[in-house]
Amino acid sequence: MPKKYLLFFLLFLTAALCGCAAGLSGVREMPYGSLRNPIIDSDITLTEALKKYSPPEFQKRQKLIEVLYYSFDGKIHQGQLVIDKRLVGAIGKVFRVALKNRFPIASVIPISHDRFFKDGKWNEDNQSMLSNNSAGFNYRTVTGGTVLSMHAYGFAIDINPVQNPYIKGEIVLPTGAVYDTRQPGTLTENCPVVKTFKRLGWTWGGNWESLKDYQHFEKVLR
Ligand SMILES: [Zn+2]
Repeated sequence: MPKKYLLFFLLFLTAALCGCAAGLSGVREMPYGSLRNPIIDSDITLTEALKKYSPPEFQKRQKLIEVLYYSFDGKIHQGQLVIDKRLVGAIGKVFRVALKNRFPIASVIPISHDRFFKDGKWNEDNQSMLSNNSAGFNYRTVTGGTVLSMHAYGFAIDINPVQNPYIKGEIVLPTGAVYDTRQPGTLTENCPVVKTFKRLGWTWGGNWESLKDYQHFEKVLR
């Protein structure tokens, strides 16, 4: 190599190595799974988040928001939630409390995400619940009934279904789930997440008498 080119080559190599080092130190400052560099569980558009059928008058009241949470792997994740526009502030407060208290939330991914599409249907076999996903808006009827669920209006959210099952007599959803208050991610009367929701005027399904829906919170708006 002629001397002239060798000099250019060495300069280039030095610049490249410095660039790498700067890049590496940047990553070291913001480790993957930290507040400034969260693990992205969901990154879809509003159109994608409303892909599962719902009437336009229901859709127009929904908002897609980003939420940060501490997950079961001990890392910070970022997910997305579809909820009635008027409940966005309350959801933000609850997620901040959950994060501050290191209350683990497995994942928060909208029901219309492709991962819950199976055999031509969304949320077939309750894919979302089985994968312990937390979600809000879902145009569907109540479990075992024909009237619309509060989720259909974007007035409800389910959190960690595996630790917080729906229990009505012999029926437990998701199948095989056990409500054990000693397990992390379980919602109880004294849990900061439950306390915050209640303080903001939401109803907790864990307080219902005829059945228990420990994962469920709702605030019915007119
Ligand atoms: Zn629910």
